[in-house]
Amino acid sequence: MGYKIALLDSHAGVGFKAFVFYVFQNWINKANKPIGLLNLHLDDALLSTISFEDLQLSTELLPIYSYLPVVEIEHCTFCGKCFNYCAFGAIVFHKDSKIMTIMEQNCSACGACLYACNDRALSEKKKLIGRVNILRNEQFQIISPQLDDFFQFAKLAIRMAKQYSNSIPLLLTIAPSLSKPYFSESVMDMDLCIVMAKSLSVAKNTILELKSHWVGNIALITYNSDLSDNEIDDFIHSFEVLYFGNMHFSIADWITNPESSKLLSDFALVQTDEVISNRILDYVNQQMNQR
Ligand code: SF4
Ligand code: SF4
Repeated sequence: MGYKIALLDSHAGVGFKAFVFYVFQNWINKANKPIGLLNLHLDDALLSTISFEDLQLSTELLPIYSYLPVVEIEHCTFCGKCFNYCAFGAIVFHKDSKIMTIMEQNCSACGACLYACNDRALSEKKKLIGRVNILRNEQFQIISPQLDDFFQFAKLAIRMAKQYSNSIPLLLTIAPSLSKPYFSESVMDMDLCIVMAKSLSVAKNTILELKSHWVGNIALITYNSDLSDNEIDDFIHSFEVLYFGNMHFSIADWITNPESSKLLSDFALVQTDEVISNRILDYVNQQMNQR
């Protein structure tokens, strides 16, 4: 069984993604086992700015389908039952004007309207809603589910992407922000969640929120903070979390540097902290050896 880690940050900015990518790069040669990076930031294309030209990765695009209802208006008696059954506001219905339309962007494919219609005016159609993008070589895989304007299917996309990543011995997951309705789905089967936070008040809020969604081991990484050892000790004991250290990086330096190639990978390599990355890997190896 593999080991799954989710990294999350309430802001999830450039620095956070750079760190995740740096950890991934750092572990490719040190982990002694194939590793995977699962990007569950479904609405964030930032990772696509990373250049992999020299790595000769193969690419695979796997379709994600859902089954959406379609109305055959000539059979519709405008009874309104489907409208009353739909809990997602996906049906526009006006009896007098004889309007009955399904708004696919709101439909969650629950099937309730199909069940409600006694007049066989509704049927299902298979619809491409997105794809799982897999970049791979022998050492690692990078898996990114993407949706085409169908964010009501985010949980489905996450489940599919996880199926493809299930056989990877060590999986690093970029979790979406806690406010996303599909956050729980993304962290539910993780072995460890690592929270990144700039201050202990942000860390506290994030950890409390995380604990309301998920039960398991939590670790903390602070960044650009000047906290004393005592403050950190008190915090990690109060919240029963691990602490991997404080990281230093400056996004401003990177963005304003005219020499920067603007590639996230360059930023990651220059700015992040190898000590913390190695500390996490040591912890993971220890956990896996105990299994
Ligand atoms: S499948 Fe469900 S969400 Fe979609 S229109 Fe029918 S009842 Fe509404
Ligand atoms: S339940 Fe069937 S017949 Fe009634 S309004 Fe909906 S689609 Fe038309």
